[in-house]
Amino acid sequence: MPTAFDPDLARRLLDAALEVAQRAWVPYSNFPVGAAVLTNHGEVISGCNVENAAYGEAICAERNAVTTMVAVGQREAAADAAPSASGAVPAPVPQVRAVAVVGLSAAPCWPCGACRQVLREFHCQHVIVEDAAGEPVILPFEQILPHSFGPEALGEAAGSEATDFEAAGEEK
Ligand SMILES: [Zn+2]
Repeated sequence: MPTAFDPDLARRLLDAALEVAQRAWVPYSNFPVGAAVLTNHGEVISGCNVENAAYGEAICAERNAVTTMVAVGQREAAADAAPSASGAVPAPVPQVRAVAVVGLSAAPCWPCGACRQVLREFHCQHVIVEDAAGEPVILPFEQILPHSFGPEALGEAAGSEATDFEAAGEEK
């Protein structure tokens, strides 16, 4: 399924990812990666991978960008959000319109499984990487994480009372 995404914007996001990749802290893998997320507000927030002498504590560029997005308060106003049966209004959710990922020593550089799941949480719509020739490859997010688990699977329990979680568990 072809996806409608402005190629010029894709290039801009890839360039932002490329720039931040230069600042990656990767003394162990020498595999620098940069990611740039485009929020629904049109903000571009980037992150690089950061490794650690305790290898397992490394964090990927994509998750670094997403956690920064949340930290700086890029939340989508839930203008059309209706209160749930319990009267709770859903909290505004940060929204990722697209993520661009660039690995300085590998192209294309696709998000790892963990990053796909984190991007999924924030409704990522498009994934942009560079092919071996440096040209943008743009895919709908569903293509890289089909049949995914997301917050809606928890139903009204998400962000609501614990009793809702219990009720959802009883149905299984
Ligand atoms: Zn990752």
